[in-house]
Amino acid sequence: MLAYSDASVLVVEDEAAQRELLSYNLQKEGLRVVAAGDGEEGLLLADEEEPDLIILDWMLPHVSGIEVCRQLKRHNRTKHIPIIMLTARGEDADRIRGLDTGADEYVVKPYSVTVLLAQVRAMLRRTRPSSMGEQMSYGDIVLDAEQHKVTRGGKLHKLGPTEYRLLTVLIERPGRVWSREQLLDRVWGHDSEIDFRTVDVHVGRLRKALNQPGKPNPIRTVRGTGYSLDYDA
Ligand code: CA
Repeated sequence: MLAYSDASVLVVEDEAAQRELLSYNLQKEGLRVVAAGDGEEGLLLADEEEPDLIILDWMLPHVSGIEVCRQLKRHNRTKHIPIIMLTARGEDADRIRGLDTGADEYVVKPYSVTVLLAQVRAMLRRTRPSSMGEQMSYGDIVLDAEQHKVTRGGKLHKLGPTEYRLLTVLIERPGRVWSREQLLDRVWGHDSEIDFRTVDVHVGRLRKALNQPGKPNPIRTVRGTGYSLDYDA
């Protein structure tokens, strides 16, 4: 089994035994786990941690799972995070309601932990391929997350660790414009004290590291906003 490098999962489940069982099994898979016992805490942690995946129980006290889902999908910081909804209700109408609200998968309780873990892996492979050791490419640039290798047009390029992480973030969503703050969070972590100019410095280094004579600069500067991996190869 693959040890994930940096993917995180938020579990929102009010039943303590269920929450602990799930958290334990996800951690055993090498995932970073944060857990919440109700919807409000779930919303708070989703905003703070920006996890790569959320496992969300439907039946929660106070704020229901459906409402949590709705709010997550309304906010810019959290709307891209895939959600697996857990519920004891199996009826089609509820299933449709769950999907309408923005849940990406729907798992009926009682569920098999093994099956749920397989769904988690499948989803992360789609949404966070680097965390699953997958190979990713954009244009003529290929990043092999298992071997930590970057090539452009078949030629090997040596990148520093920060530039490598930066490219990993960018190549997972080509065309997306990332603000300096978002890149800071993703590459250096939420608690880092470095300033935005450091992001500019490392983007500069990454450009230089990927440079090949006669080929376009793959990273676009979006004035006043940030950066994007976006070019005509
Ligand atoms: Ca519940």
